[in-house]
Amino acid sequence: MYRTHTCGELRIENKGQKVTLAGWVQKARKLGGMTFIDLRDRYGITQLVVEADAPAALVEKATSLGREYVIQAVGEVVERQAKNPKMPTGEIEIRLEEITVLNKSVTPPFTIEEESDGGEDLRMKFRYLDLRRAPLQRALRLRHRVAHEVRNYLDAKGFMEIETPYLIKSTPEGARDFVVPSRMNPGQFYALPQSPQTFKQLLMVAGYDRYFQIVRCFRDEDLRADRQPEFTQIDCEMSFVEQEDVLGTFEGMMRTLFKNVLDVDIPDPLPRMSWYDAMDRYGSDKPDVRFGMEIHELTEVVKGKGFSVLDDAAYVGGIAVPGAAEYSRKEIDALTEWVKRPQVGAKGLIYIKVNADGSFKSSIDKFYTPEDLARIAAAAQAKPGDLLLVMSGPAKRKVQTMLGVLRLEMGGRLGLRDPKVFAPLWIVDFPLLEWDDETQRFYAMHHPFTAPKPEHEKWFYSNKKEDLERVCANAYDFVLNGNELGGGSIRIHNADMQKRMFEVLGIGPEEAEYKFGFIIHAFQYGAPPHGGLAFGFDRVCALMGGQDTIRDYIAFPKNNQGRDVMIDSPSEIDQAQLDELQLVSTASADNGADN
Ligand code: ASP
Repeated sequence: MYRTHTCGELRIENKGQKVTLAGWVQKARKLGGMTFIDLRDRYGITQLVVEADAPAALVEKATSLGREYVIQAVGEVVERQAKNPKMPTGEIEIRLEEITVLNKSVTPPFTIEEESDGGEDLRMKFRYLDLRRAPLQRALRLRHRVAHEVRNYLDAKGFMEIETPYLIKSTPEGARDFVVPSRMNPGQFYALPQSPQTFKQLLMVAGYDRYFQIVRCFRDEDLRADRQPEFTQIDCEMSFVEQEDVLGTFEGMMRTLFKNVLDVDIPDPLPRMSWYDAMDRYGSDKPDVRFGMEIHELTEVVKGKGFSVLDDAAYVGGIAVPGAAEYSRKEIDALTEWVKRPQVGAKGLIYIKVNADGSFKSSIDKFYTPEDLARIAAAAQAKPGDLLLVMSGPAKRKVQTMLGVLRLEMGGRLGLRDPKVFAPLWIVDFPLLEWDDETQRFYAMHHPFTAPKPEHEKWFYSNKKEDLERVCANAYDFVLNGNELGGGSIRIHNADMQKRMFEVLGIGPEEAEYKFGFIIHAFQYGAPPHGGLAFGFDRVCALMGGQDTIRDYIAFPKNNQGRDVMIDSPSEIDQAQLDELQLVSTASADNGADN
């Protein structure tokens, strides 16, 4: 037997027992003739001690152990002189009688402890070593727990876990597909699924009325800070349901997760907010409602004082930052530069300090009297001591979005975004369609399988842009602390309506038939009403773990360039493979010409 206990298991109650442990040497140090070894496995750390009067061979062996050696150690559980209340095993140590080196290790490139001295890149390259560290162990354990709770909950509700294929058809809408060449069908390609959307709908047509899958999805997007080209969804679909049924089922799931994994109670029922309110009040369709600092429209109250920037703006809005009237000129200048960065994209920032004594100081004092400023401050609900920050522009949603970004920044600066506070809510009543000026066409705000609200169908069949813009969907997002954790909708289940949707999206009948014929046909064979949603599993785990980056919750993630630096992928393939696939890589041909 390699071990009788794990390294996280022994307590004072085990005193006097003879045990065998196996694990990795985190550290070995000599102290007054004694040798102490921290032995680690994924369960914890146990201190081993070789007494000064132990046989010389044992002392020698103990002192020769290097970091990350894998050893087996036999000894007796004894009470520690100097207890460590921070460690679960901190009351005991093992007085060693025998050490066996199971495998040596070369010196690891960084320290494998709670905090590591290794940089991000190095730790990614040696991910298998980084994964030995406690923070990553905790992350993966949490991920496992969440997956387990999801399966339990959904199983109890009658959901079946059904796998759908990874080699599917390319139908890009939204993100780009990853494609896979088919050797047996030269010149043809599979695509990896961006989500199992169409398959889960086909399962509904097939009568599997409650489906779920914890499933890998692939999107070939330019990677923003915290995206991964492959990520995992908790993907779900139900038949014979209305929006209310879906929301009830899945807020129940989230409530169970938070309770069973974190012992946190989230509100019952969860608050709901319409997409329109979320945009107006928070400048975001995924509002962080842990704090107020809401956006107030000031378009009318600022008009008519001769300041053309605001007079001519289609929309003016502001946020009152509590207690920030003290900001110095320099700080406000820095903030102005901050909003001008391309990530925010503002032209400038107007400020009004509502001083504690009731006076005002603003960047627009030339145009507005103290009475005017008082009216504006009142409209923005700014109190004495607040700093009112104002933005304006020709497009309401764009200004609101910029104010929303600024609001999050100010919330963060004021410490209002505590990761241990959870404020989940549903965003509902999304517009069905989104007009894109550049391409002069509508895009589906969620995806092309989302149904218009029944009461808006009249507009859905109209050919007027204003009508189509008004159509809402029974679409919903689960939002937590400024993150969209999940989203879904009630679907179209009627072939004609699905065809109309493609028409609205500018996808002609032939293209629709080529790309989506299978689902349109399936809808002709008794498709039941259905709807569902998917949660971003990695992000659910990260947020539950109090982190905002998903990378630590994925065992082997990619870096920001979409590379796996550990296995060095993507990589070139050899000519024989290309030939077999009947592919010519213009990239490598170019490289060849350069060389
Ligand atoms: N398939 C959708 C997505 O990945 C979610 C859904 O509507 O179920 O965003």
